[in-house]
Amino acid sequence: MQRVTYRVVWPFLLLLLTAKFSQAQNKCAFDRTVHALAAKYPDFQQKINQLKEPVEYRSAVKNTITEPYTIPVVFHFLLTQQQINAIGGEDGIRQRIDSQMLVLNRDFNAANFDYDEIPNGFKPLYGDVNIRFALAHTDPYNKPTEGYHIKTVSQAGFEIEGGTGSGIAFSDAKYTSAGGMDAWDVESYLNIWVVAPLDGGKTSDVLGLAIPEYFAEDANMPAVEQGIVVHYGAVGRRSIFTEIYVKGADEGRTLTHEVGHMFELFHIWGDDDGKCPDNGGGDDGISDTPPQAYPSSGCLVYPKYDGCTRNGDGIMFMNYMDYSDDRCALMFSKEQAQRMQRTWQPGGGVYSLTQHPWLLTYPVDSNSGKTNNTHVVYPNPADGVLNISFRLPTDDLQHIMLIDMTGRAVLSQEVKIQAAFYTLNTGNLHAGLYFLVLHYGADKVVERVLVR
Ligand SMILES: [Zn+2]
Repeated sequence: MQRVTYRVVWPFLLLLLTAKFSQAQNKCAFDRTVHALAAKYPDFQQKINQLKEPVEYRSAVKNTITEPYTIPVVFHFLLTQQQINAIGGEDGIRQRIDSQMLVLNRDFNAANFDYDEIPNGFKPLYGDVNIRFALAHTDPYNKPTEGYHIKTVSQAGFEIEGGTGSGIAFSDAKYTSAGGMDAWDVESYLNIWVVAPLDGGKTSDVLGLAIPEYFAEDANMPAVEQGIVVHYGAVGRRSIFTEIYVKGADEGRTLTHEVGHMFELFHIWGDDDGKCPDNGGGDDGISDTPPQAYPSSGCLVYPKYDGCTRNGDGIMFMNYMDYSDDRCALMFSKEQAQRMQRTWQPGGGVYSLTQHPWLLTYPVDSNSGKTNNTHVVYPNPADGVLNISFRLPTDDLQHIMLIDMTGRAVLSQEVKIQAAFYTLNTGNLHAGLYFLVLHYGADKVVERVLVR
């Protein structure tokens, strides 16, 4: 009798597991969001094209960082109790986070276990991005944190479009007032919201969406919406086959792809509707990824040719910025790695995320209740930018000024939103000695700064 029961139950159980999520066709909502923003802000498409332009890498090489930076990461899980249970409760979530962090650190350091599966023709192009990720252990209030939190929500999921804030890019998930969770200071933490995506009231097959820093400046996106939203069935790496994941998205590569967007990469096929660079297409702006017409899907066989690459090694369908299944996404190219490295140079889009190493450890004085909001000013001499990085968000900083030797204010910035990180553009200043003045309520702090 026992055997009969198993025979009946197993196929039924497997059906349940596989039917839980549909397979993703439109894995990433990045292109869709860019189009929506470009319709509102015509200059935005120009910005995208600009970011795709060939880059002179000599300066980036000069600044090559040998000791990798580590970016503090926080996960905000926003799920119903049923969804939390489906992925194994808090234990399951912890397993998914830990395996996901491992995948990110391997994929971004040319250390993925499946490297051997890269076809020989593309192996010489295997890029080492050289950046690390770790869970944050100090929260914005200087309290200890495990780097994730779980909020049980009553709604079935979060809409890609509509709602509060920008009204696009899952914005409801990013505001506590709208049932989501406010970002932790986006200059200090890489925020990752984990949700069940909805599109027009229906379950969506979108797996992820990244809003990089330049969206705020060039498309009027509220800065607090910066970060990544990811499908709860696509976070982490499968450890046993009974775990439920979106089909083809069970090795953590959705977040590898989305973090690529955070570091200013684009889809490998150029989001240009089948066009190629030789017939008006934009491609991805990266010279060592072959031109490609459309996104790939599933697991293709090498060499794969298409309308934009008809010979040689074919298209690089195993690139993380394509749409191949996780188990067949294996690499960033060398030039993609260089392009990403530019974003954490001083002045780059994620530079500030690399400048808060103390957030990776537990707070020293979390029990005393007293915090000392120290800050550092760097680089000094300032080289194009001058950063003021506080341990905690300031609470009464009113003005930041730079005064020259004659007493004249050459830069003055009113602080409208209290943050833990401020940047001054010193690129237009003459070289020499200046005084940085931080105006608080009744106090001011003055420091000497050199500008190069
Ligand atoms: Zn994408």
